[in-house]
Amino acid sequence: MSHTDISRRRFLSTAGWSAAGLGASGLIAASAAESGEDDSRRSEAVHKTEVLVCGGGPAGMAAATVAARQGRKVLLVERYGRLGGMAVQAMVGPLMGSVTSPFVDEVLHRIGGRRFDNERLDLQYASIVDEAGASLWLHSWAAQVMMDGGAVAGARLLTKQGMIQVDAQVVVDATGDGDLACAAGAAFEQGRPGDGLMQPMSIMYRLAGVAGEGALYCGSEQEARKIKLPAGTWEQIVERGMEAGELAPTIGVVRLYRANRPGESVVNATQINQVDGTNVQDLTRAEMEGRRQAYQVLEFVRRHAPGYEKAYIAAMPAVVGVRETRRILGTAYLTRDDCISGRKWPDAVVRDARFPIDIHNPAGSGQAEGDGTQGTAAAVKPYDIPYGCLVPRNIDGLLIAGRCISGSHDAHASYRVQCIAMAIGAAAGAAAATAVEQGVPPRAVNVARVQRLLAS
Ligand SMILES: Cc1cc2nc3c(=O)[nH]c(=O)nc-3n(C[C@H](O)[C@H](O)[C@H](O)COP(=O)(O)OP(=O)(O)OC[C@H]3O[C@@H](n4cnc5c(N)ncnc54)[C@H](O)[C@@H]3O)c2cc1C
Repeated sequence: MSHTDISRRRFLSTAGWSAAGLGASGLIAASAAESGEDDSRRSEAVHKTEVLVCGGGPAGMAAATVAARQGRKVLLVERYGRLGGMAVQAMVGPLMGSVTSPFVDEVLHRIGGRRFDNERLDLQYASIVDEAGASLWLHSWAAQVMMDGGAVAGARLLTKQGMIQVDAQVVVDATGDGDLACAAGAAFEQGRPGDGLMQPMSIMYRLAGVAGEGALYCGSEQEARKIKLPAGTWEQIVERGMEAGELAPTIGVVRLYRANRPGESVVNATQINQVDGTNVQDLTRAEMEGRRQAYQVLEFVRRHAPGYEKAYIAAMPAVVGVRETRRILGTAYLTRDDCISGRKWPDAVVRDARFPIDIHNPAGSGQAEGDGTQGTAAAVKPYDIPYGCLVPRNIDGLLIAGRCISGSHDAHASYRVQCIAMAIGAAAGAAAATAVEQGVPPRAVNVARVQRLLAS
């Protein structure tokens, strides 16, 4: 039995997918069945690379770039048609969070700062990846892992050409959802302790036709309490809208951000609770409900927000924004206390991460309680992320990058933002390059060398 056969079976069982849930690869299986072939052998060119990075968000872009800059042969694959992850696909932004990272500083400089242009970010990231010498394949969905004993040895990509097999010495899972780690059988957590609920999903979108001066802007729940209009505070107006059925009961706060272009603003208000971003039916419900809420919010701001009387939707995201899914358990685990106390680690690969514990309420409306008051997020001190958070406990050949690293629900609510995710990706890229260079599994790399690479 080949590794392909083993990994295929293993993937199906560990990911908990039924054959009916395979979607497009089910099509391949069907045509193979007609021809009497086994689809796992019908593949596919076999490509070889040293480092395979799956997922083209900030973490994957960083991992591919940093590994390629070390002279490694790197392939970055992304399931959709654009790099950038949530920022491009779900129109989220600006880039938040701080870290001490020359790589993140360089990227921020190159993309024009934290308030990037989400129509261009994909091309800006692609230039960075390309200049480093990494190859990029878009429209390539990492669908199965190749196993060699207890180690990941590559992945099979679902493409319009069918399945393409990529053999790699090290695979970096930067899918946000830990898809490859999960498929390989890595242990993971999902949701908060107790009820397992995750942060809600949201459709963020852009309005145009907003009056220039005097238009209402609101960045947070706290700001909503301070904004006073003739009919009350913005918070009270939104609450009344929820009571009257003008807004969905999960909305809580209608944030209206200034957009980069005059006459436009970005809406962060819709909230779909109790959905799992690794469940296709939940994703479908979230897309539908989120987009319906977006139009409700449009009608609401036209009626109640100064400057929005003639507003209209200028752009909707390609996909719903997913904040939280799997957290792959590593040889280290970051907790809320680690973030709040600003814990330092000798094997730190991300330094001085800063962003509040920002939990959008998984069960009710608006923001979850942070420091005891609804709508506040608990503050952190600059904390480190140790290398072990990127190394799955029970699987070799694999590194985790971005929001799916090892940590608690609360810690994730801080390190999930893009600048920190990017710094984690840079660390994964440096570690992957070091593992290839030293001919050792990722868990055995010399972390001091990884730290040196990241500091330069
Ligand atoms: C509504 C919302 C608002 C947010 N607001 C902000 C904000 O204002 N500022 C901020 O900094 N952060 C914000 N965030 C958080 C932030 O966007 C993400 O946590 C961050 O993008 C994580 O980066 P990542 O690289 O780990 O994952 P992602 O950005 O999710 O990127 C993962 C990439 O992997 C690809 N992928 C997934 N599975 C596969 C697969 N099997 N094969 C191939 N490719 C795959 C995806 O298409 C995607 O491109 C927000 C998130 C949401 C949902």
